[in-house]
Amino acid sequence: MVTAGVVSTLLIRNREAEAVNMIDSLQDSFVHKSPNWDAWEATSEEDTSDTYVKIQTITKSGKVKDTFYSPNTQKYLKAKVTRISAFPAVKIVDGHGVFYYRSKLTHRAYYQIWLSMNYILHMVRVVLEAVLLVAGLSLIVGVALILLMSRRLTKPLTNLTKAARERAAETGQLQQSLPVPETPTEVNQLAISFNQLLTSLNDRMQREHQFVSDASHELRTPLAGIRGHVSLIRRRGTEHPEIVPDSLKYLDEESLRMQHLVENLLAISRNDQLQLDLKPLDLTELLTIVVANYQHQTAHKITLKLPKHAEALGNEDSIRQIVLAILDNAVKYSPDDRPIDITVVELDNATALSISDQGTGISDADKAHVFERFYRVDQARSSKIPGTGLGLAIVSQLVALNHAKIAVTDNHPQGTTFTITFRK
Ligand code: ADP
Repeated sequence: MVTAGVVSTLLIRNREAEAVNMIDSLQDSFVHKSPNWDAWEATSEEDTSDTYVKIQTITKSGKVKDTFYSPNTQKYLKAKVTRISAFPAVKIVDGHGVFYYRSKLTHRAYYQIWLSMNYILHMVRVVLEAVLLVAGLSLIVGVALILLMSRRLTKPLTNLTKAARERAAETGQLQQSLPVPETPTEVNQLAISFNQLLTSLNDRMQREHQFVSDASHELRTPLAGIRGHVSLIRRRGTEHPEIVPDSLKYLDEESLRMQHLVENLLAISRNDQLQLDLKPLDLTELLTIVVANYQHQTAHKITLKLPKHAEALGNEDSIRQIVLAILDNAVKYSPDDRPIDITVVELDNATALSISDQGTGISDADKAHVFERFYRVDQARSSKIPGTGLGLAIVSQLVALNHAKIAVTDNHPQGTTFTITFRK
């Protein structure tokens, strides 16, 4: 439409200029006070076919003297005319087509000229047809190309969706990864990311599964003992009342162990969903209070090597839990007469807190596992030191929630050092 509009405007302008030229040439074509039409047609620079002219000569007093018509003009002027309000100079003439009208009044004559615009309309139609043809062809080719491209893109996606649906239908088949198409790159990346997600989900599921089965196992042992002693008291308690105090002591210890276990399990599952509010705090102040309270409960001497202030980003409650859990272990796994040393060192962008004991130490092989849930070094189990194997797992959860890092190293000459590095 725009192209047709521009072309017709240009052509109308062109006709307008032609009309002006023709009127000028008409002024020169007067021979013996009447226009010489043949000479005019022969000398005119413009195409005068399909052009109608009416000239009225005017007397000095302004009256019409003579009226001249170019050939066929009288017949042309009898035809019915329809005007187009938007273009006052353009008229539709019955049986002749569309015409451009122009007039000029001089002191000698009044010129009226009608130029055919049929050629212009024809041109506009040709341009429109050409534009429509090109547009139509582009549309067909474009749609075909889009369909082709989208099919190339969607086929691997459809395959991926199908495979994902199949995996979802076969429950427990998360182990099987999805097929990775080589192209297009986007789908290739999507499939790779999806497989990574599947792997991590799978790992998580396995860990959860392992956790539940370990938890059941840990609970089953004290429960079996408790049930055994209850049935012992029931069977022989009346005849042998001397066994009752021992059994009761066992019931007390085992139920307490179960209580700890259940509390730790709950803590682990709670921490899994937890998000902590981290604030800048003074580790020196926090540790001084925690250790002052803790010192009353233990025979171990706890020494503090702290700077005046030690800024760290963290959550106060959770840092207190971390320190208490590591202190509990240091107490459990080192002789009473050995000190426990707490040191805080400020680094460039971090603050490091170390808790060292001079106890049994942890072998390198075990160091890699002590933060796992239910992991207890064999020695700890055999020496009957009470514990659930969940303490350090909870510590590592809390450390992660504080966006901190924990490391376990050997203390010199003996024992273990736990170092937690907090952000500032
Ligand atoms: P537990 O309840 O058995 O203490 P933890 O998760 O706290 O469980 O610790 C896991 C294991 O790591 C312990 O069983 C113990 O073998 C070892 N461990 C932890 N802290 C120390 C330590 N300070 N010295 C020696 N061994 C330790």
